[in-house]
Parts: sequence; C-alpha cells; structure tokens
Amino acid sequence: MFADLHLHTHFSDGTYGPEELAGLAEKHGLKAVALTDHDTMEGCERAAAACTARGIEFIPASELTAELGDVELHLIGYFLDASNEKLRDELAHFQKVRQQRIHEMAARLQHVGVPLQAEAVFSLANCRAPGRPHVARTLVQQRLCGSLDEAFERFLKKGKPAWVPKFKMSAVQAIELIHQAGGLAVMAHPGLNRTDDIIPGLVQAGLDGIECFHTKHSTHATEHYLEIAEQYNLLVTGGSDCHGISKGKPLIGTMRIPYIYVERLKEAHLRKSLARGLQIAASDGSDASAA
Ligand code: AMP
Ligand code: FE
Ligand code: FE
Ligand code: ZN
Repeated sequence: MFADLHLHTHFSDGTYGPEELAGLAEKHGLKAVALTDHDTMEGCERAAAACTARGIEFIPASELTAELGDVELHLIGYFLDASNEKLRDELAHFQKVRQQRIHEMAARLQHVGVPLQAEAVFSLANCRAPGRPHVARTLVQQRLCGSLDEAFERFLKKGKPAWVPKFKMSAVQAIELIHQAGGLAVMAHPGLNRTDDIIPGLVQAGLDGIECFHTKHSTHATEHYLEIAEQYNLLVTGGSDCHGISKGKPLIGTMRIPYIYVERLKEAHLRKSLARGLQIAASDGSDASAA
C-alpha cells in the first residue's frame, strides 16, 4: 500500500486535471494521494470527488512559498480547510501577486527583445496561480524558445533577464496560517534548499513534518532527512512532485511512500484537531462563566 503526497494540477503549474490525476493514481495502485498545488486549493474539490469515486483516499493540501531569513522554502499544508477565511484571503493575495509577476516578467522579456505578451501567458495558463512554467510554455508555444529548459536557462532562472523574485510569506506566518486552517505544516523537498540551518527555526515555529521522500532526493538525502525527522520528532512525508506531462515522463507512480506514513499523518492531524477542539471548548467555557 503506497501513497503520493505531492502532486500538481493545471490549477497551478501542472498539466493534468484533477480527474486525470485521480485516474493515474488508480492506474498506479495508490491508496492515498494529496493535491499540493502552489498557492491554491481550487483543484481539491474535484480531486476529492474523483479520488473517492475510485476508492482512493484524498488529502486536501497546498504548497506555499515561504522564507526564513533569506532562505526560500516551500511549506505544504496538509488537511487544510479550504473554506477557512484567513487561508482564502492569503491564497487570494498569493494569486494576485503571481499575476502581477507575470506582467513584470513579460515586460522584462520585451526589454531584452522577446515579444511576449502577458495576456498570452494568462490565456495559456488559464489559472489563478500562474508561474514561470507557464511563461516557459508560452515562449515555446510561440516559438520564441526551442524548449522549456532553454526558456529557464536563457530567461527565467534566478539571475537571468526575466527573473522576477516571487512573493514569499514568512515561514513563521505560513506555519501559523496552516495551523489556524486546521492543517499540518510540512517542509517540502528540503534537499533542494541545501540548507539545514533553517530546520531548528522551523521546528521552533511549529513545523509538523518534513518531506524526506522526493523525486529529486538522492538515497543519501532521503536517509539524511529521515534522521533529521527522528531527531526533531517530525512526521515523514513524500511524493513525486508530479507536474504532469510538461517534463517528459510523468512522475506520478515513480516515487511512492509506504502507507504507514499516511496513517501517522492522519493520527497526528486527528490528535491536533481534538486538542484544538478541546482548547476552543475550554475558552468558550471560560467566556461563558465570565459572562
Ligand atoms: P515559480 O513558482 O513561478 O517560481 O516557478 C517554479 C516552478 O518552476 C517549479 O515548481 C518547477 O515546477 C518549475 N521549474 C523551476 N526550474 C525549472 C527548470 N529549470 N526547468 C523547468 N521547470 C522549472
Ligand atoms: Fe511547481
Ligand atoms: Fe516545491
Ligand atoms: Zn511541488
């Protein structure tokens, strides 16, 4: 029994729709999946329905861009309540600044002689949380670049002419946002940040888990982060980070984690939800007695 807890759809920078993704999860025999689109939860309702229909457990989630000091990191919130008002406001803000960033990238491309219109990117992306992959795909579609890799290498990577920094939320705030929306906060692909220095700070801020298994982690990195998880008593997660068919072979099915990790995640979520419920009940009770 296996799970994939890191997947994207076309509601952010993936290419699959929620139903296609659920179909692939079934094809690969996955027992549980989580949808972790960047800065949006729009795909979760459809993905939940499609997974449930196939007997696959579904965990609603989102991958948020955060920073601690000057280190950028991705934090995944699992079991998020998509109707939580503060979360909805913050996601809307993330989406607005992502759209502004597309305008800025288009302007920078034009400045170096590449005639890309922001509107073309929006029309190709057709989502509220567009990013660099959509700019890259539009550049290829309009034959302004030969490949996605070329688009990143020539224009979109950090330090290249069309690179525009992305809005990041402080990691402390992001963890708090995730918690108040009923979620568990997990550091995504720590092996890609290549900086473990921030982990103690994240733990201090209430980090619940760490993504030890990831397509881009070497065996050595996976073992290393499993040790870190044990050291800080963190939950262990993992997934393929599949973005669909945009980068050759789809990654779904290539990185699966044993279902036991999902059980531990669910237990922790239940424990925290109960504790929160008790806390709320206690504070209601004290309000009532004060009144
Ligand atoms: P953004 O969130 O807009 O900064 O875009 C980040 C996303 O771009 C990542 O989630 C990857 O999916 C993708 N990405 C980053 N670097 C590359 C690259 N060199 N080639 C293709 N895709 C990339
Ligand atoms: Fe992505
Ligand atoms: Fe990420
Ligand atoms: Zn991701």
